[in-house]
Amino acid sequence: MDGLKSTDPAERRSLHDLTFPTLESELVAAGVRSVHTRKLWRALHREAATCVDNRADFLTPLRRWVEENVGEGKRFFLDAPKTLADLKSSDGQTRKFLLQLRDGQTIETVIMGYTGRFTACVSTQVGCAMGCTFCATGKAGFTRHLRPGEIVAQVLHCQRALRAEGLPGLRNLVLMGMGEPLHNYDAVIAALEIITHSPGINLTPRRVTVSTVGVVPGILRLAQEPRPYNLAVSLHSADDAERRALIPAGRRWPLEELLAACRSYRETTGRKIFVEWTLIAGVNDTPAQAVQLAAVLAGMNAHVNLIPLNPVEGYQGAATSADDAERFKTILQAAGFPSTLRQRRGIDVDAGCGQLRGRMVG
Ligand code: SAH
Ligand code: SF4
Repeated sequence: MDGLKSTDPAERRSLHDLTFPTLESELVAAGVRSVHTRKLWRALHREAATCVDNRADFLTPLRRWVEENVGEGKRFFLDAPKTLADLKSSDGQTRKFLLQLRDGQTIETVIMGYTGRFTACVSTQVGCAMGCTFCATGKAGFTRHLRPGEIVAQVLHCQRALRAEGLPGLRNLVLMGMGEPLHNYDAVIAALEIITHSPGINLTPRRVTVSTVGVVPGILRLAQEPRPYNLAVSLHSADDAERRALIPAGRRWPLEELLAACRSYRETTGRKIFVEWTLIAGVNDTPAQAVQLAAVLAGMNAHVNLIPLNPVEGYQGAATSADDAERFKTILQAAGFPSTLRQRRGIDVDAGCGQLRGRMVG
C-alpha cells in the first residue's frame, strides 16, 4: 500500500497494538531492515514516547517509514489517552487516572505504591458484561473491549507519570481495573506479550496478575500460554447459590467447574492460585463461610486476598468490620492458607473498580 495516500479510517491501526514480531514484519514488508525494529520499539515502549516523528536517533529508512506511515490520515497512529482526572489519595499511596480513549470512551487506571514499589492496575474493557452486584463497573454494563494498544497505553501512561516524579518504574501489573480480562482474551494476551517484551517495558511475567471472575475456558487457555502469568480468581463465595447472587456469571461457570479449572491451572503451570475475596458484612464474612472456603480450596496451593468492600452507589452491602475480617483471616491461616487482609486504600479517590468513572461520567 502506498503510505502517502490517505488511509481508510477503518484500516488504521495503533502502533501500540503490534507485538514485536508484527512490527518487525510491517517494517520488513515496507523494505525497512528488521534491525530498525528495536529502535522503534524502544522509543514506543521503553521511553514511552508519545510521538516518534523526526527523531535524530532513527536512521533514514526508519525515519522515512515513520513519516510515511504514522500520523494523521496514515496507516498507523499511537495510543496516548487523554487524562480527564488525576487524583492522589490522601495517604499518598494511590494515584488514580480517568483516561479518555480516541472514541471518547473512558477507563480507569491506578498506580499503587507501597514501599517504593509500584503496581499498575489497568482496565481491559470499557464496562463489563459480568454484572457483579457489588461492582461499579458491572453496574454500568458492557460497552466494548479494549484493543491491545489501549491496554499497553495505560501501562505507558503510568510509566510516564512515575518518571515525571523521579520515581522508579513499575514493578508489577494487575489486570484488576474495569472489565473481565478473560472475556477479552486475545487482546489481553497480545498486550501482555508487548508489556513483557525485553527491549521495551520488560515487566516480568511473574509480576503480572490476571484477575478473573471465573471464565473457565479462559483459565484453561491461560494455563497453556508459554509465559507463566499469575492467576487471581475472584471467588467471593464458596457456595454456588450464594455466589450466583453476587456474580451472575457464576451461573455459566459453576464453582465445581471453576475450582477444577484452578486445579488444572495449578498443575499445568506449577503456580499458586490467588483467590480474591471481597468481604461484605453479613454476606460472605462469617466463620462458617471461612471454613467452607478452606474446604473447597483443600489441596490447592492458594493464597487468599481479603478485600473489605468499597462502598458502591446502588449496592446496599457494607464492608466487613476490622475484627470480623481478622477473624476470617485467622480461620484461613489456621487451615493452612496464607491470607492477606488488604488495607482499604484510596477510598477518597474512588479506587474501587469503576467507581471514579461512575462518579465522573454518570
Ligand atoms: N473482572 C475481573 C477483574 C476486575 S475486578 C474480576 O472480577 O476479577 C478486580 C477486583 O475488584 C475483583 O476481585 C472484584 O471482585 C473486585 N471488586 C469489584 N468491586 C469491588 C468493590 N466495590 N469493593 C471491593 N472489591 C471490588
Ligand atoms: Fe466485571 Fe470484575 Fe466488576 Fe464483576 S467484579 S462486574 S467481573 S469488573
